[in-house]
Amino acid sequence: MSEAPHLTFDSDMPGVSRGHLVVPGGADRGELSLPVFSLNRGEGPRLLVTGGNHGNELEGPLVARRLIEWLPEAQTCGRVIVLPMLNPLAVQAWSRNTPLDGLNLNRVFPGRAGGSVTERIADAVSRILLPMADTVFDLHSFGPTWDFPPAATTHPIADLDLMARTVRMAEAFKLPLTLVWEYNDTVGMFDIVAQNQGKVFVCAEFGGGTVGADNLAIYEAGVRNALIALGLVEGKAEYPTFRQQKSGQTLETHPSDELKSPAPGIFEPRASVLDEVKQGDLIGILHPMDSLSVESIDIRAPGTAIVFAIRSGGHVGVNEWVAAVARPLRLECH
Ligand SMILES: [Zn+2]
Repeated sequence: MSEAPHLTFDSDMPGVSRGHLVVPGGADRGELSLPVFSLNRGEGPRLLVTGGNHGNELEGPLVARRLIEWLPEAQTCGRVIVLPMLNPLAVQAWSRNTPLDGLNLNRVFPGRAGGSVTERIADAVSRILLPMADTVFDLHSFGPTWDFPPAATTHPIADLDLMARTVRMAEAFKLPLTLVWEYNDTVGMFDIVAQNQGKVFVCAEFGGGTVGADNLAIYEAGVRNALIALGLVEGKAEYPTFRQQKSGQTLETHPSDELKSPAPGIFEPRASVLDEVKQGDLIGILHPMDSLSVESIDIRAPGTAIVFAIRSGGHVGVNEWVAAVARPLRLECH
């Protein structure tokens, strides 16, 4: 390898800087330059905003671009660094993983300097950008085959004080859903690396992953609300309107809250996201399509809960998720 990862500008310079994070080349390809924006207004919170961690989630890069447009007039203190595309190779391919090495960037943190390109991106971000921030917003989308409300999410964190601060930060987005999400496949996530360093990390999951004007406006409002809560910009935080409602709720979900498909087929939703359901309520119907003498199968709520994700597209296989539910968060120290 020729050189170490680095920024092409001095982020300690006051005011606006635009440049690149240089990810060194390796055996699989040459160096990669990721565009970076930095605005340094001195003392105050230090925030890193990233998008394009997964390449088929395009709201994040667009909201990051918008943020860069209005931040120079709005930011009154502190330092904000914006990296709209963590993984440009995946974004250009509209692919969750990097085509070149097949890796999911959000499972290889903190990366490896001598690894493949995805691992080198994670290494450069972990070593150069992460130490410059106390708070990180990573802007994702839930995916194009799902109905999912705009949400600010985190995972359970062993450090209960960091957990409480993270949930408060997520709630400050004032999105329809704040979700504490327990799931098993968390090794190598950007979140975990940042949280292990004591940083507040909020993962925004911005709906469907197919870009629309209404959704983008909600997402941008959420990020602006969070910047107001941090004290980086002035203004009044307000709940954006989502499906005629202006409100938010904080929920928790566990692996057992995933409703799985009992057979291959097409899932027909019979509930909408944020619907309250009771045990036995119909959430959807799975229609096996390979034989018309096989009955369709009702998918029913396992108990009192709120539907937060529901499959809205794509033929499903056996044991794939078709919906997920959650319940109000109970956090001892909250
Ligand atoms: Zn994602």
